[in-house]
Amino acid sequence: MQTDKYQKMFFERTDKTLNKWLMKDYVTENELYLLLHTLKGTAGSIGLEEIAGVIEEKLFVLSEDSYKPWPRAKWEFFLDPLIRLCEVGVIANQVPAAETSRAAEQGIGPHDLDKEFILLIDDDKEFITYTKDLLEKQGYSVMVATSGAKGLSLIYDIQPSFICIDIHLPDMNGFNILEGIFKKATKTFIPIAIVSADASIENRVRSYNLRALDFIAKPINADIFVAYIENRLSYKKEIEKLVLIDELTKVYNRKYMKEHLNLLIKKYVRQSYVFSLVILDLDLFKNINDTYGHLIGDEVLKMFCDTVNEVKREEDIFCRYGGEEFVLLLPGSEEEAAQLLMDRIRQKLSVTPFFTEKESFNVTFSAGIISINEDITHPQKMLELADQALYIAKETGRNRAVTYHTGLEMKKCPLDITIVIVDDDHVIRSMLKNFFVHWKPSEAYRMNVIDFEDGISFLSSDWYKPNGKYMILLDGMMPEMDGFEVLKEIRSKYNHKDILVSMLTARTGEEHVIKALDNGADDYIVKPFDTREVSARIIGLIKRVFTQKLTK
Ligand code: GH3
Ligand code: MG
Ligand code: MG
Repeated sequence: MQTDKYQKMFFERTDKTLNKWLMKDYVTENELYLLLHTLKGTAGSIGLEEIAGVIEEKLFVLSEDSYKPWPRAKWEFFLDPLIRLCEVGVIANQVPAAETSRAAEQGIGPHDLDKEFILLIDDDKEFITYTKDLLEKQGYSVMVATSGAKGLSLIYDIQPSFICIDIHLPDMNGFNILEGIFKKATKTFIPIAIVSADASIENRVRSYNLRALDFIAKPINADIFVAYIENRLSYKKEIEKLVLIDELTKVYNRKYMKEHLNLLIKKYVRQSYVFSLVILDLDLFKNINDTYGHLIGDEVLKMFCDTVNEVKREEDIFCRYGGEEFVLLLPGSEEEAAQLLMDRIRQKLSVTPFFTEKESFNVTFSAGIISINEDITHPQKMLELADQALYIAKETGRNRAVTYHTGLEMKKCPLDITIVIVDDDHVIRSMLKNFFVHWKPSEAYRMNVIDFEDGISFLSSDWYKPNGKYMILLDGMMPEMDGFEVLKEIRSKYNHKDILVSMLTARTGEEHVIKALDNGADDYIVKPFDTREVSARIIGLIKRVFTQKLTK
């Protein structure tokens, strides 16, 4: 991808618009504003910083809401510096290709995808935009919830490493959130900070009483805040290293599993002592959370563990790998024995309903089994192959265990993701499209890219297929139907969980960011942007939200 090409398109488009304007007696201030506004976002993204700077100054004196006529002589004079720069640009086309191209050629490395997620539950626009930007520059991924309800669901869905909560939220009080999650957070060592401008003694005391780790007064100081977050995250890692039991379910945790798996592999290599590894994943667990709430979901996880503990042998090692995924290590057992054990757990679960206040239901799980053999003596490999078998179990109807063996067609299908680009600016559109079309982040994903030049043609197209996964990059400002209206329409019509929306906005006004998030955007990207950064962020989101993959 060459930046030059986009610059050329940029100059041509500017030229075309201005030529059209030459035919008119006048243009309105609003037209002028809209043109400059779009040009600004584009220019900054394709390496034309000087032009972006000039436009910024020009925009300053214009009002979007004014329809005052600007006769030709007036706008020509006004735009003169810009026109000159564009002419130079058309001739020389001199700016070197920006960083953006390299990422597309090389693909995004896996290290870009495993950033720590930080969750901000806050509706204070200046704080959100400032902090998100600050932390992303430090290499963290940041998600924002502007309401308590959204924040609570994100805690479970993205499993953040750090949570900042504001006290005053539109739908609930930050302390209510704290009360709801502190048990879980303290047990998984997720640091929580209450961040508020209202730093009264009473609020501070209450925060600490409710087990927030810290109370941070706004406004924050950037240097202190970054150092603070690093401090808390490294502390969290240290503690995790020391602990071997999962606090919620009281079974062993991932760290213990990995250590023990290594020991078993060594024992096999030295003494040919066999064992099996099984990954168990609860079926449609999301539905349980969605129907009964996360607290009931937690109780179901405990109940499931109690059942497995009752059925398994004493020497079998049962661990929580993460979320609703578990691993069983079965020393001395081969595949048949592992299958038998799965049958017995399934049998036991089928006669152990889970009771809520109003009703009862049964929980099922799917499992992937692998036994050690001389070709597979690497822990990660064993987990991967068991995960493939698990995948087949899910694909063929769930509530079953599948054993991995070579020859069986087990190739895991990549997850299809459709990237939808909706932007009236064709430079931005083709730049993003070009990037994503050539982009292959890993074997696990297959990207389709479609693009639309306005919200109406997008919404009236047949872009949506039930159960498809979508990442929509939506321009905030478009003629006729703006991005916010498009967003509302998407959220009211389609399954929320399958569609991620990131709003592209050239507006620096923070209200637009809040408006996007309030209307259900998952993220926002401020123009001008760097394509590489945008794509790293997008794949981070996709990975967290669409696939909580076991084997990373
Ligand atoms: P599948 O049968 O395909 O496995 O469907 P699923 O819904 O179980 O799978 P998915 O992996 O999409 O969803 C797992 C959900 O588990 C997502 C997350 O919100 C939830 N979850 C993860 N950890 C916890 C937890 O500690 N407590 C609760 N209540 N929910 C959790
Ligand atoms: Mg799962
Ligand atoms: Mg599941």
